[in-house]
Amino acid sequence: MSDQSKKLLEIGKELKELSVKSGRLGWAYYTTGYDFGIQESYDKITDYLKDKKRFETVCAIRDKTTDTEEKRMADLLFDSFERFHLSDEVTRITKEIQVLTNKLSGILNTHRSHIDGKEVTSLEIQQILSESPDRELRKKAFLARAQVNRPMLEGGFIDLIKLRKEYARAYGADDYVSMSLEKQDLNTDIFKGWEESVQQKLPEMKKVREKYAQKYLKDNTVRPWDEDYIRGQLAPALNTQVNMTNFYDYIRTFFAHFGYNLDDYNITYDLFSRRNKSEWGYNFPIETAKDSRILANIKDRFHEFRVLLHETGHALHSYLNDPEKIVLNMGISGIISEGIANLFGGFLTKPLFYSQFFSDNLKEVKEQFAALKEWQEAHILQPVAGILFDQRLYTASIENAEDIHALKWSLDQNLNAVEPYGDEPVWAYRIHHTTHPIYLHNYFMGDVTCAMLEETFKKRSGVEQIEEKPEEFARFLYDEVISPSGLYPYPELFKKIAGEEFSLKYIL
Ligand SMILES: [Zn+2]
Repeated sequence: MSDQSKKLLEIGKELKELSVKSGRLGWAYYTTGYDFGIQESYDKITDYLKDKKRFETVCAIRDKTTDTEEKRMADLLFDSFERFHLSDEVTRITKEIQVLTNKLSGILNTHRSHIDGKEVTSLEIQQILSESPDRELRKKAFLARAQVNRPMLEGGFIDLIKLRKEYARAYGADDYVSMSLEKQDLNTDIFKGWEESVQQKLPEMKKVREKYAQKYLKDNTVRPWDEDYIRGQLAPALNTQVNMTNFYDYIRTFFAHFGYNLDDYNITYDLFSRRNKSEWGYNFPIETAKDSRILANIKDRFHEFRVLLHETGHALHSYLNDPEKIVLNMGISGIISEGIANLFGGFLTKPLFYSQFFSDNLKEVKEQFAALKEWQEAHILQPVAGILFDQRLYTASIENAEDIHALKWSLDQNLNAVEPYGDEPVWAYRIHHTTHPIYLHNYFMGDVTCAMLEETFKKRSGVEQIEEKPEEFARFLYDEVISPSGLYPYPELFKKIAGEEFSLKYIL
């Protein structure tokens, strides 16, 4: 390794130490509501990145090097440092965004919804939506998710949007969306044509929804609170009661098929609900290949394994990464992370995972999941409306709650054929809008990537299903995706594997 690479690695190591500390603080905050000094830990990172000499070192190497890997490392570090060397204004806004994001995520994590005056957890809401035949109750449960809109607005959500827009201006970017995408090695072009694809798919989606509304609701329209119920009707296995105290045995058995031994890894699971704990599912990648933690909210239903498989997929990914490649690991695309996590999450409805549970009626369960397929495929582009909402918060003028609501209603109506359903739409409960703006595309594009990987693997190995050769698939995943993923920007990586540019055709 050259002296220059060593220098970059040294900086990467010091930065990593600081981010490990803030990761641990984040874990405590999200699991208990205790803030043991998150902002101080961010301030330390800021101080480190503000250092002129270090930044000059990175810039000098970045300008001079001719080595691909060294250039990538320098680019990645440059991205972390750059914003603190533009103007005092950018630094000031960065801190204001951190403080407000931290405050708002606290509001969201500790908020609890109510149905008819009674406090309910996100799990209870989910259970009603999946299982209750009482449509009015399902409606109430769904709308309860809108209750957090108001405290988030009062807490300053619109100020947060404005600060991010201000940040993009001070940074010199066209807007916050293009700036954020550029930081992720993407650009706005990749989203061109998505709306048209949705429009083309819409008649099929409407037809399928009408068919199942008539079958299960004795109505012509599926409302948002009917969707999980219909899935549960199509595949009752999803709502099977499971003793979740044994969750780890099931997960470990499943991952062993691929040759992974979870016992070799240090993965912490915090799975059951409690006061002041975030109601979402999260992986805290505290330290690559050393400490990975999973926050989730589960209780006793089979479908809850989807989140466990997804988050364990993240943790596994961390342990497959090379901890020595500290700087390159910073360049792993969110699409790759979420793609790998979704890949394992998707095994919920495949025999390799579910045969552990339904050994007495495997055939019947298989038919149930096959019946679910038509519904899933008709809704394959449903996430696009949410992705565009995530982006347009930053390209539209947002001055008040009505602006946000109008934006959400119009996207729901135009892209998902969902008519306004209450006083206000459900939106703020989705934590990404607060903590991870311009991120939702990662899940969806991750799915497209998985579909491409599956197709490529099948072609190369001559199998019909990944399940036929899971260990070979694990090697393919490592060689083609995990190992090179820090070195190449996402669009390049996709092209290297697929032999062509990213396209939605893989899921259509
Ligand atoms: Zn994830």
